[in-house]
Amino acid sequence: MNTPLFKNALHNEPMSKHTTFGVGGPAAEFVVPESADELAEVLATCRTADVPYFVLGKGSDLLVSDEGFDGVIVSLDALVGVRREGERFVCEAGASLGCVARRALYAGLSGMEFACGIPGSIGGACFMNAGAYDGCMADVIESVNVITKDGTRVTLGVDELDLGYRQSRVRNEGLVVISATLRLTPANRDDIRAKMDDYTQRRESKQPLEYGSAGSTFKRPEGYFAGKLIMDSGLKGYRVGGAGVSEKHAGFVVNYGDATAADVHAVIEHVQDEVKRQFGVHLEPEVRFLG
Ligand SMILES: Cc1cc2nc3c(=O)[nH]c(=O)nc-3n(C[C@H](O)[C@H](O)[C@H](O)COP(=O)(O)OP(=O)(O)OC[C@H]3O[C@@H](n4cnc5c(N)ncnc54)[C@H](O)[C@@H]3O)c2cc1C
Repeated sequence: MNTPLFKNALHNEPMSKHTTFGVGGPAAEFVVPESADELAEVLATCRTADVPYFVLGKGSDLLVSDEGFDGVIVSLDALVGVRREGERFVCEAGASLGCVARRALYAGLSGMEFACGIPGSIGGACFMNAGAYDGCMADVIESVNVITKDGTRVTLGVDELDLGYRQSRVRNEGLVVISATLRLTPANRDDIRAKMDDYTQRRESKQPLEYGSAGSTFKRPEGYFAGKLIMDSGLKGYRVGGAGVSEKHAGFVVNYGDATAADVHAVIEHVQDEVKRQFGVHLEPEVRFLG
């Protein structure tokens, strides 16, 4: 970018600080709108100036290149409000799934237990239809408030969102989620807590949470499990530089501490090539690439 667009922006902000992989070069501009109106203004300004922008949640499904992003990162870190309305929660897009899951527990409302260990935001979870164990966002979303590509604000009901496995209309049409209304079900708090504890324990025992990652690196190919294919290809522990296939869970590519984005890319590509060569199965990355 030649000239700064936003006077309050951070410049050359390292994206390694904003992704759970802990890698990624600088963003030319990094802006943090403090209201839905400001978010809409920022997006409109980028569009009018024809400057590329990228909406960032918690950066937990994102691999930013070492060169970074020559555009505007629009962080939703300040849009984190969560309001309870009876059996519903109205959540701003930047609110963390963990926070909403805990709020639901305190309120004695069931439905968000699946999300308690997913380190993403409500907006990112709507984009991905994030899910785990016995639940996903499609089960709890009632409606979502979005900004369309032409700047219009609309409310879409769950049936209008085309939610599928890591798939949504938000993703397909480049919509920006401002907030989501979730509809939950009254339940016994001890039962909710027991479910959350069980899921947390399962994650801690099976996933390499001590290292940076974006969770499962690949989508589940139809009829297979990505982690098993990778393990059966003999790739558990395969490394390039500071990145590698986790010894604990072959479905996770992890940053052992000093990885570059290029290292992570190289591991992903090698895993794809080997699994294709040995089993004829294409592994499609779940993680999003930027820059
Ligand atoms: C340890 C670990 C475990 C994980 N476990 C799971 C799991 O069990 N299940 C699962 O589904 N995922 C899992 N993930 C992946 C990730 O947490 C989810 O996909 C999450 O929903 C991503 O949300 P985010 O806010 O971090 O999105 P980001 O990584 O910030 O962005 C991802 C995509 O969403 C878009 N986006 C973000 N916010 C918005 C918005 N408001 N409007 C429009 N687009 C937006 C971004 O532009 C980007 O394209 C895991 C990740 C980690 C690191």
